[in-house]
Amino acid sequence: MPLVLYNTLNRKKEPFISLKKNLVGLYTCGPTVYHYAHIGNLRAFIFEDILKRVLLFNGFKVNHVMNITDVGHLISDADEGEDKMTKGLKREGLPLTLAGMKKLADKYTAAFVADLKQLLIILPDKMPKASEHISEDIEFIAKLQKKGFTYKASDGIYFDTSRLKDYGKLIQIEDDQDHQRIKTGEKKNHRDFALWKFNSQLGWETLFGKGFPGWHIECSVMASKYLGKQFDLHCGGHDLAQVHHNNEIAQSEAAFGKKPWVKYWLHNEFVVLDGGEKMSKSKENIIILNTLRDKNYDPLDYRYLCLGTHYRNPLMFSWEALEGARVARKKLFEFVLAAKNSKAKEDKLKQQQYLKQFTQEINDDLNTPKALAVVWEVVKAEDLADKDKYSLLLEFDKALGFNLQHLKKEKIPSAIVELAEQRELARRKKNWKLADQLREEIKNQGYLVEDNSDGFVLKKG
Ligand code: AMP
Ligand code: ZN
Repeated sequence: MPLVLYNTLNRKKEPFISLKKNLVGLYTCGPTVYHYAHIGNLRAFIFEDILKRVLLFNGFKVNHVMNITDVGHLISDADEGEDKMTKGLKREGLPLTLAGMKKLADKYTAAFVADLKQLLIILPDKMPKASEHISEDIEFIAKLQKKGFTYKASDGIYFDTSRLKDYGKLIQIEDDQDHQRIKTGEKKNHRDFALWKFNSQLGWETLFGKGFPGWHIECSVMASKYLGKQFDLHCGGHDLAQVHHNNEIAQSEAAFGKKPWVKYWLHNEFVVLDGGEKMSKSKENIIILNTLRDKNYDPLDYRYLCLGTHYRNPLMFSWEALEGARVARKKLFEFVLAAKNSKAKEDKLKQQQYLKQFTQEINDDLNTPKALAVVWEVVKAEDLADKDKYSLLLEFDKALGFNLQHLKKEKIPSAIVELAEQRELARRKKNWKLADQLREEIKNQGYLVEDNSDGFVLKKG
């Protein structure tokens, strides 16, 4: 059951063969830290986490690099519109200075890392910041200049895409007029893109003038600095393929002369809302992880929801779907907690059969919905003892990442217990109105109180 992945570059599923024996170089495009990551962004990072875990599950070591974009990303991926960080500075009333930008970036980077931890995403081995790689950007651009791939326009240094015969090979670029520069005539080809943007007010003083690196060069620089001139895997949302990733390939292959720069390109589909609208920071229709927490969802409910749809299919987000994921996730956790202490009955052969089935599904381009179906087959299996189920589920969990081995019975906060005791008192005094109010209050805080012959029991809602 070799691992097979859908490679956007060749438009087909291919067996995964690493460049170096057992060691995989993985680069994933990180967040632009001008705002909170929304649950659409987080789907991309959950998918990449599954990819990494499946590589580990298959015995590979993984060197994972994810950048933090804290400078240079414009509203449109094709070098147009306002700079996203500048937009963030204005929104938060911060000064339009590099120090202001750092403050903004630090705030949203910390929030992002907290989200990753809550979703049990394994943190990357390196999280380089674009703002700390300006001298490497300049070196890279100078290299391209020396090789004759650049030219200067009034607002920046550009990459000349006509110098590469295979420019745009990752995914066909739609020939839309939006890619034309506003000042027509300056850009030699409408797909040319900025390597360095001049800015007289804000930015870094360099040999190319004061300004910012382009978003695309940042990723080429950080990926090659930490993973080398050729590496195995590069990922991101599918919106990045057309412009950002095509441009990364163009610059890197032009600079290093090695093809392909990256062997496998993987892209996830979007989280969409009712009516098919893409969730996006610029559309201001975003839901963030804390919104889910405020509604008493566990971040792992969202992880479970994501795993229920294949990463190459759009994920339609609705509260009903999240509720369904919560119920299933809780059922699974309850089963694992109960099975943990059951008596051992080792049926290795049966276990092997289920493990084979699971591996087949997860190794088939990370088919998490089918892998989850195997999880439930195991939970319900009549031919397996609970202890055997438990050890199988821990094995599957290496790829799924719910941390089943360390599940703990949820502790009910003392404030909730106190409310339940007050309710019990109200009931004894036949003050039904107050008892109902307290039940509602407990429910609003995410717990259910059930009456029994001894008094009450509390459960997480
Ligand atoms: P950004 O912070 O905008 O640079 O995006 C971070 C990652 O999230 C990129 O890989 C994007 O392609 C991805 N992404 C953006 N919007 C969505 C969405 N609605 N659903 C899934 N992935 C997304
Ligand atoms: Zn990138």
